[in-house]
Amino acid sequence: MTSRLRISSINEKLLNQSVTLNGWVRTRRGSKGISFIQLYDGSNQNGIQAVADEVLENYEEISKLTTGTSVSIIGKVVESPAKGQAFEIHAEEVRVIGASSGDLYPLQKKGHTLEFLREIAHLRPRTNTLGAVFRLRNTLSWAIHSFFQERDFLYVQTPIITANDAEGAGEMFHVTALDLENLPRNPEGKVDYSKDFFGTDVSLTVSGQLGAEVFALAFTDVYTFGPTFRAENSNTSRHLAEFWMIEPEMAFTDLQGMLVLTEEFLKYVIGVCLERHEEELEFLQKMYEPKLLETLHHIHQTQFETLTYTEAIDILQKSGESFEFPVKWGIDLQSEHERFLTEKHVKKPLNLIDYPAEIKAFYMKQNADGKTVAAMDVLFPRLGEIVGGSQREDSLETLSRKMKEHGLLGETYDWYLDLRRFGSVPHSGFGLGFERLVQFVSGMKNIRDVIPFPRVPGNANF
Ligand code: ATP
Ligand code: MN
Repeated sequence: MTSRLRISSINEKLLNQSVTLNGWVRTRRGSKGISFIQLYDGSNQNGIQAVADEVLENYEEISKLTTGTSVSIIGKVVESPAKGQAFEIHAEEVRVIGASSGDLYPLQKKGHTLEFLREIAHLRPRTNTLGAVFRLRNTLSWAIHSFFQERDFLYVQTPIITANDAEGAGEMFHVTALDLENLPRNPEGKVDYSKDFFGTDVSLTVSGQLGAEVFALAFTDVYTFGPTFRAENSNTSRHLAEFWMIEPEMAFTDLQGMLVLTEEFLKYVIGVCLERHEEELEFLQKMYEPKLLETLHHIHQTQFETLTYTEAIDILQKSGESFEFPVKWGIDLQSEHERFLTEKHVKKPLNLIDYPAEIKAFYMKQNADGKTVAAMDVLFPRLGEIVGGSQREDSLETLSRKMKEHGLLGETYDWYLDLRRFGSVPHSGFGLGFERLVQFVSGMKNIRDVIPFPRVPGNANF
């Protein structure tokens, strides 16, 4: 094939020059000896219009082009008289590369529901909607690395197969090489994992945090960005069984220091999208989320609010709202509570800190009051929790006691206590669900529409 130019790189410097573009036909319409081909190659939201005249020798073929056909177009870049596009291509040659049998192609011109598109997950990346979402997803992932790399954080890849259960929640996928039809048993009749591949029971990780702590206590500032797995059977619009998580971990940093970084981080990645993806965001706003740009600009400019859990409970109790889940000190906040606080009460992103120890993980730093821990959840409008984090317990004595209470003492975690035995320092970190971020920035209602092939209860297709 000759030179490949992407549609997004067409600019005024190329005016009146001849270029070769490859892509797929989104639509073709004709009028008196002229065909207007909307060409798409995934590099921008709108593609580009190519105008083909009947003088072209294969005009008969061109006039029958159907949606989804792949073509190579050579033509001159000219200013477009049409509204909403700066340039178009005056085709000198239109060559069909791969036909698309018109009537059978599932993506027709008319809009399709997002539910239907999930059933054709191998074709939906070609739609306007998924195109916008995945260009945003790509930019967000770049912006995340860029933010941390600019600040000298080390990118660390923690393992996916693990014998730890970082959350102590037990909603994990087991990994085994044993023959499930013929399981080895110990004298008590339990499965004998000493015969399994790793000589012990292992699972897919729910978080890279414990490994990240190890690296933070050697490299000071680190982050992970990798897949995590949860076998929680929650069929919601915000949960996946396989999702990507970003987990920064910072030594010599307390909760307050982390709050500052988290806000800077969220504003940075949203700012990059606002700068680079006006077309995508405007499209998504028109189609799915009427206040998308306003909300993103607001978050980018406003200062986040901070409240303690105890203050939040008080506010919820005095709110006069009737919640489905009753509010009292000690409850795990539900999405309805989180959304009331951020959307109706402070009307901006909200850092909620100092949660009751009972509802948080064992590794969170105990506060002086003895009842709460130095935890932080960042709540966003429309979504509720987007980030969950904490200062970590750095006292050997307190951590050992809490691990004992949680039944976690023993060889599996002794290395974790070593971090407190040898040169312990205050350190803090958080976990951000990548798809929750993409969901928020794109305005998509369902998390299944922001990951290439969603894994959810009852479905691992494609
Ligand atoms: P939730 O209460 O929403 O289930 P969580 O408290 O279980 O979240 P954490 O264990 O704190 O979540 O995980 C850190 C982050 O990972 C969350 O803030 C969220 O952004 C994301 N996250 C957690 N579970 C899922 C999931 N099943 N699918 C997608 N993202 C998730
Ligand atoms: Mn959860």
